[in-house]
Amino acid sequence: MERMASDATMSKIYIETFGCQMNEADSQYIADRAAEAGYDIASKPEEANVLLLNTCTVRDNAERRAYGRMNHFKVLKESDPGVRLVVMGCLAEQDRDRMQQVAPHVDAVFGTKELVELGDRLAQWQPSFARVQDTDEGDDVGLERALMMPLGGTADAVTDGFSHLRGFVTVQRGCSYYCTFCIVPHVRGRFDHRPMREILDEVVAHVAAGAREVMLVGQTVNAWRDPATGEDFGDLCKAAAALPGLERLTFISPHPKDFTEKVIADLATVPQLNARVHLPLQSGSDAMLRRMNRKYTRAQFEEKVALIRRYLPAWAITTDIIVGFPGETDDDFEATLDYVKTGLFANAFMFIYSIRRGTPAARWEQVPAEVSSARFARLVDAQNAATRTYHDRKIGSTVRCLIQGPSKKDATKLAAKALDNVTVIAPMPPDYDEALYAREPWLDIAVETAHVWGCTGSIVRRAERYADPGTRVALPMISLL
Ligand code: SF4
Repeated sequence: MERMASDATMSKIYIETFGCQMNEADSQYIADRAAEAGYDIASKPEEANVLLLNTCTVRDNAERRAYGRMNHFKVLKESDPGVRLVVMGCLAEQDRDRMQQVAPHVDAVFGTKELVELGDRLAQWQPSFARVQDTDEGDDVGLERALMMPLGGTADAVTDGFSHLRGFVTVQRGCSYYCTFCIVPHVRGRFDHRPMREILDEVVAHVAAGAREVMLVGQTVNAWRDPATGEDFGDLCKAAAALPGLERLTFISPHPKDFTEKVIADLATVPQLNARVHLPLQSGSDAMLRRMNRKYTRAQFEEKVALIRRYLPAWAITTDIIVGFPGETDDDFEATLDYVKTGLFANAFMFIYSIRRGTPAARWEQVPAEVSSARFARLVDAQNAATRTYHDRKIGSTVRCLIQGPSKKDATKLAAKALDNVTVIAPMPPDYDEALYAREPWLDIAVETAHVWGCTGSIVRRAERYADPGTRVALPMISLL
């Protein structure tokens, strides 16, 4: 692979992110630190001086993909030995002692608690890359953002020109719950909650940089407490919503156990909150929940659902489910399947259990792969039917969505997300222009068809602010025929 000669004018960093929103938030932090240090953000790896992989280890597949990507990048390093390959994130934390033996071309490994050090290192390296300073193009470096490539990313991954519309703010690091399948407490450590003041300052900075939506991110985000005052997650959401200019607020991922009635009642007083809560069930069987160390029973989970329904009746509930966890019997699985069949969940991330080294469940007797696969197929069928029903209900309505950018699968279409996180795709409007649509990113889309993955429709209006009525958008010729 040949490197592009025209890229020698500035130091550039290419950031690729696997995994959860916590990693996306970390990548955004590093992108900002890199921009402050004088880097431009590269949209292609072959343009960059620094290649940064932010890794995930939640599933075996994520690990394999990260090591595969390191091998791809080896070719770039061979064609230009000055390129530096850096690995950060959960896999870096887990494999820090052996990563450079397995992949000797990796120049540096930064664990999950070394973001500040990584930012400092990038600043140290920068002068050696900035061989010719670009003086003509103004100081717009800070406006660019990291290219995000979420694990299992779809056609609708955020593109550069629109990524600043969504700000990620980490409210806590680590987790102290030690679910028996989860590697997070082992690689990210126990809860470390940030002070409210710091979090709010970061929200303000994102809003000032053009964010229309801010996502509060934590492994168990609703367990957050201010370390000094003890204020809880409800207090944090209310304080964030009171900041001037914040249009939309959302959060991921809460733990069912930490949804007290007080927190849920607080959320109901915050009109900027997106009407969707992700409530990870994991299993519908009490025996499995105990083995998973989830700290709630099925009945307690249902109590949380009832509270959400009482205070937040219009909110969509989405979930995570693991199939084939060690010890899962047919009856355990049927309990999960029955619950999914109630149609409670608007959507679900469903996984076949995969062994994570260093966790208790890795040492237990495993469910045969063919049994897990058969159960998984039945679960996916059931949830897909529920998801499709949820999406069907949008047909005929007009939903306000935040633009994501041109669809990766079909560049003649635009992708956007509704407030309940449903993907909506529409034909590219005739007046499409990236700068204009980044300035007026709220799209009213008349929904015409529904699918399991989301909906399609036509853009009828665009607006600068969420509360604006918006201006009409002409339909593309193809829609008029
Ligand atoms: S609550 Fe459980 S699954 Fe979630 S991060 Fe903590 S240990 Fe992992």
